[in-house]
Amino acid sequence: MTCFIDVILPIPLEKLFTYKISEAEADFLKPGMRVAVPFGKSKIYTALVYQLHSNPPVVYEAKEIDQILDETPIITSKQLEHWFWLSEYYMCTVGEVFRAAVPSAFLLESETVISKNECFDTPEEGLEDDEWLVFEALQHQSILKVHEISSIVERKNVLPVLKRLLEKNIINIKEEIYEQYKPRLVKYVKLHSNYTSDEELNKLLDQLSRANKQKEALLSFFSLSATTKKPVKAKDLEEKSKVSNSVLKALVNKNILEEFYIQKDRINYEGETEETKTLNEHQENALSEIKENFKKYDTVLLHGITSSGKTEVYVKLIEEIISKNKQVLYLLPEIALTTQLISRLQNYFGEKVSVYHSKYSVNERVEVWNNLLNNSPKARIIIGARSSVLLPFTNLGLIVVDEEHEVSFKQFDPAPRYHARDAAVVLAKIHGAKVLMGSATPSIESYYNTNTGKYGLVEIKQRFGNVLLPDMELVDLKEKYRKKLMKGHFSDRLTEEMEEALSNGEQIILFQNRRGYAPIVECNTCGHSPQCPNCDVSLTFHQYKKQLRCHYCSYSIALQPACMACGSSDLDTKGFGTEQVEEEVKQLFPDVKTARMDSDTTRGKYGYEKVITAFEQRETDVLVGTQMLTKGLDFDNVSLVGIMNADTMLNFPDFRAHERCFQLIQQVAGRSGRAGKRGKVIIQTYNPYHQIMQQASMNKYTDMFTDQINERRQYKYPPFYRLIKISFKHKDYNKVNEASYWFSSSLRNMFGRKSNIEILGPEFPPVSRIRNEYIKNTLIKIPPHQSIKNIKAVVKKTGNSFNSIAQYRSVRVIINVDNY
Ligand code: ADP
Ligand code: ZN
Ligand code: ZN
Repeated sequence: MTCFIDVILPIPLEKLFTYKISEAEADFLKPGMRVAVPFGKSKIYTALVYQLHSNPPVVYEAKEIDQILDETPIITSKQLEHWFWLSEYYMCTVGEVFRAAVPSAFLLESETVISKNECFDTPEEGLEDDEWLVFEALQHQSILKVHEISSIVERKNVLPVLKRLLEKNIINIKEEIYEQYKPRLVKYVKLHSNYTSDEELNKLLDQLSRANKQKEALLSFFSLSATTKKPVKAKDLEEKSKVSNSVLKALVNKNILEEFYIQKDRINYEGETEETKTLNEHQENALSEIKENFKKYDTVLLHGITSSGKTEVYVKLIEEIISKNKQVLYLLPEIALTTQLISRLQNYFGEKVSVYHSKYSVNERVEVWNNLLNNSPKARIIIGARSSVLLPFTNLGLIVVDEEHEVSFKQFDPAPRYHARDAAVVLAKIHGAKVLMGSATPSIESYYNTNTGKYGLVEIKQRFGNVLLPDMELVDLKEKYRKKLMKGHFSDRLTEEMEEALSNGEQIILFQNRRGYAPIVECNTCGHSPQCPNCDVSLTFHQYKKQLRCHYCSYSIALQPACMACGSSDLDTKGFGTEQVEEEVKQLFPDVKTARMDSDTTRGKYGYEKVITAFEQRETDVLVGTQMLTKGLDFDNVSLVGIMNADTMLNFPDFRAHERCFQLIQQVAGRSGRAGKRGKVIIQTYNPYHQIMQQASMNKYTDMFTDQINERRQYKYPPFYRLIKISFKHKDYNKVNEASYWFSSSLRNMFGRKSNIEILGPEFPPVSRIRNEYIKNTLIKIPPHQSIKNIKAVVKKTGNSFNSIAQYRSVRVIINVDNY
C-alpha cells in the first residue's frame, strides 16, 4: 500500500501539501512530528505532519520526504486544533501560525544562518563525521548558511545534522540573543535603629568627640538627609564629608550607621522562595467569588481598582492549580515591561516559573517548549506575551490574562493577526481550563460579556491597605493660558504640587504621549513644514540630536537653520513631546534629576531596565514618559503624577479613543501613591468638562462603560458589530485606488443590497502613505446573528478572484479580523 502524509509548511499556502512515505516511515510517523521535505525547485523546508492517509493528490505527483526529524511529536493535537481555529478565525494560513508558534530552531531551512555557539569550546564526546565537518568549518568562518553547509558535508539534506548539533549546543541559529540585565547595586546608609531619640544622639556625639573623622561623617550624614530628604548614598556621604570608606565601615561596625540597598531583584531567580501573602478580607472574598463563578463560567473578569492587590489573588489561585500538577499560563501585554512581575512570581514559586519571550535565546525557548511537552515541574507557570498561547500545553488548568484591556494583545503584523486574550479563551476551552482576566479598567468588550452572562464578574473596590485612590485634579489649560499662569507647558498647579513632592523627597511621574521635542516645525513666513519624503507625515523635531525624524519609517535629516522652502529663519515648533517636557523640568527645577522613558531612551540593550532601576533606586526624581509608563509598574515613592496634555489621547480618529483615554488616565494615575500614602494626580486639559475627563478623574468606570456601550450600539461598532478591515498597499497611487475600488465593489455585489452587512470605503487612513506605499482601507461591519463563517468565505473568494487579475497581483492585501 502506498502511504501519504499531509504536512503544514511554514509558508502562506492555502492548502496542506501531500508527500509520499514508505510503509516503514508510515509506521513510525505520527501527527505533530517534523519532516524535512523538498519544495519548489530547490528549497528544503521543515514541515509538520498533520495526518497520514492513502489517497494520492489529484493535481500533482507527490514527492518523497527527505528525512524524518523527530522521534516523537513536538506539537500536540490540542495545539493543532487551536492553530486551525486561529487560521480560520483570523483568515490566515495554518503555515503562518506554525511559523509564528515555534522557536526558529525548529524551522531549519535553506536560508537559515548558523553560527558557532561561543560558550562551547571543544566537543567533549566524539562527534559524528558530518558533525565534525560543520564544527571545523565554523572555526574558520563565523557564520554559515544552510546551503553552504550542504556543500561542506556534500549532502543535500543537512537538517538532521544541524538538529543534532543544536541539541549538543554546538551551534546557534543566528538571531538577536537576549541577555539578562543585572543592575548595579547602590549602597545606602542610615542611622542605626538604636538612635532614635535626641538624647541618645547627643550621647553618641559626645562619645565620638575623640574620633574626629567619624564625628564629621556623622554630621555630614545629618545635613545630607536633612537637605535632600532622601535616603543617603554611601558614596555621596564619602564625598560630602571627605572621609574614606574605612571611616564609614567603622561607623557601621560600631552599630552607629547601617548599610542597606534599595533594589528589587529581577529575572534571575536564585535561592529561597517566600510564602504567598495572606489575603485581606476583600481579596479573600474576591478569591472565593472567583472560585464560585468558575462553577458556572469558564471565564471570569476580575475588575479591581489599581493597587487593590489583584496579583496576590492570582497568586493564590495559581498556587491551588499547580498543587494539582496542572499548568498555568500567565499572559502579559508586553513582557519587556514586566520584569517586576517576573521576580514577584519567582519569589513565590521559584523554579516552577518559566518565561517565554521572543527576546530570549532560542535555547531557552526550546527548553520551555520541551518542559511543557513533558509536563515537567519546571514549566508549571509560564509567563509570556501573546505568542505563548501557541505553546504545547499538555495539562493546562488556568490562564490569567493580566491587564486584559491592553491593545498590544492584538498582533498587527505579520499574520496571524490574532488577539491573544480571545485566543486564550479558545485555548482554555480546548483544554477544559479556566480563564481569569484582570484589569482596573476592563475593555468595553469584556465588561459587556459579563453583562450578557458570558463571563463571570468579580470586583475589588478597595486598594490594599485601604490607601485612598489618588486625588485627581483637572486643570483647565485654556484658563491658565488666559490668566498667564503657565510656565512653558506647566500650569501653576502642577509646579506647586511638584515643589511640594520634591521637598518631601518624593518622586514624580510626568506623562506625555508623544516622544521627541515637537511634532511639527513650521515656518512663520511661508507656512512650510518639513515632511517625510517616504511617508505622509510631518517630521518630528528631536532636539538632542538636532534632527528631524519620521516616526513611521525612521527617515531623518539634520535640523536646517532656515526654512527649506523660502529660506526664512523665523521657524517655530508646534505641539510638544517628552523631550521638551524633560527640558522644561530642568529649567523649572535646576537641581532635580530627570530621566525620560520612551522608545528613544529605551532602545538600546537594557535601556528600559536602566531607566526603571535608576528610578526605583531613587537616583532620579522626575520620570517623564509615554504610555510605556502605564504598564504594570509599581513604584513605592511616587506621590505625584502629572498628565501634561490629556487631550491628545482624546482626539484619535478611532472608535476606541474615549475608552483608551479613560484607561490611560486611570492607569497612569494608579502609579501614584501606592505605598501607604494618598497620591495626587494633576490632569492638564483643554476639555475639563468633557465627559471622559470627568469620568476618569472621578473613577466612574461604570458611567464610562454605559456611555460607551450606548455609542457602540448606536454607531454599529463592537461588541455589537464585528469588524474586518482590509488594507491595500502599493507604491503606485493609482493602482491602490483601482484595486481597492475593485475589491470593495465586488464585496458589495457579493453581499447584495439587501443584506445589512456594511462595506465602508475604500478610504485613505489619516497617514495614507508609509515607506513609500500608499494605503487604502475597506471596513466590513458585520451585524449580530450573521454567519461570520459565510462572510469570511465570501471575502476569501473575492480575494482569490482579485489575485487572478494580473494588474492587481502586486497589490498587497492585508486582512485584519477584529481590528481593534
Ligand atoms: P494590583 O495588581 O491590583 O495593582 P498589587 O497586587 O500589585 O495590586 O498590590 C499592590 C501592592 O499591595 C503591592 O505592593 C503588593 O505587594 C501589596 N499587597 C497586595 N496584597 C497584599 C497582601 N495580601 N499582603 C501584603 N501586601 C499586599
Ligand atoms: Zn518658509
Ligand atoms: Zn517616513
